[in-house]
Amino acid sequence: MSRYWSELTASLVPYVPGEQPKDQKYIKLNTNENPYPPSPKAIEAIRSAAGADLRLYPDPSCDALRETIAAYFELTSEHIFVGNGSDEILAFAFPAFFSASRPILFPDITYTFYPVYAQLYGLAFETVPTDEQFRIQARDYNVPNGGIVLPNPNAPTARYLLIDEIQEILETNKDQVVIVDEAYIDFGGESAVRFVKEYPNLLVVQTLSKSRSLAGLRVGMAMGHPDLIEGLNRVKNSFNSYTLDRLAMAGAIAAIEDRAYFEETTRKVTATRDRTVEAIKPLGFETIESKANFIFIKHLHRSAKELFAALRDKGILVRYFNKPRIDQYLRVSIGTDEEMDTFIEALREII
Ligand code: PMP
Repeated sequence: MSRYWSELTASLVPYVPGEQPKDQKYIKLNTNENPYPPSPKAIEAIRSAAGADLRLYPDPSCDALRETIAAYFELTSEHIFVGNGSDEILAFAFPAFFSASRPILFPDITYTFYPVYAQLYGLAFETVPTDEQFRIQARDYNVPNGGIVLPNPNAPTARYLLIDEIQEILETNKDQVVIVDEAYIDFGGESAVRFVKEYPNLLVVQTLSKSRSLAGLRVGMAMGHPDLIEGLNRVKNSFNSYTLDRLAMAGAIAAIEDRAYFEETTRKVTATRDRTVEAIKPLGFETIESKANFIFIKHLHRSAKELFAALRDKGILVRYFNKPRIDQYLRVSIGTDEEMDTFIEALREII
């Protein structure tokens, strides 16, 4: 431990992201990236932005992008906040809406950044048990709390909560902020954005990292009541008043406007996902039904740790979590058809 660290820094247990190998030798199915490139229109827009005004600071309120997002969701730009990835938005939302005295609720098996942020800001939290199949029940969130974070679909389990259940949670928690983290919603789920005007306590967070293939650009967006957006702006402006850079804004606008490309690539990913699930079932795998761009799978006889290592030896990276309850599962991001054929073939050889 460094003697220069503060007590806070010394006590932190930071999030550990999935491996990003420096060489290209792996088929990378470990960090839920999209296998397809971003919209060519987004690349073109980034190129033009690079040739334009990089000398100047970007618009701190990101108006053009917020207007594009508002038009996409049939909201107004007062309902929209953008950040450097949805991780940054969540990092602003935790101190903006939650407190040290009343616990935030989130599922026991979920995105590990939630407890990391709670710890960073000294916020109280409690985890809500999921069942043995990692199902989330709306009624379990009808207990005293200081706010709720619901990933839908959940990560890493891929469990999807029906929109009616989200509404039930909103109904029973009208005095607290409910954040629905929809990083993976575009792969077959129904978004809670349609409740934004009805429930002023709802903040829906989405990202361009998955369904728009722009993980490298770092753009996230949040939709909620203008009061919530103002809360996020207060925290943001206490760190760095410039949110997104000019390239990210230009690329994000073009990617959101290119609906045809988005629909085509998400359709391809979901079709490949469903086909992969069918192909690995006869090999002895159980899967949690997925509406995400990844699957959460367990073999009936072989350990996940052993399968992870055997796949790695064959040049395929998947995600293994050395944690109670999920250490028998592998999380596998959906690649191209060709990559998934190689994955399925590798499993046939291993098992
Ligand atoms: N939420 C969930 C549930 C995620 O899995 C991820 C991706 N790791 C994120 C948010 C953050 O995505 P990004 O910061 O790339 O928008």
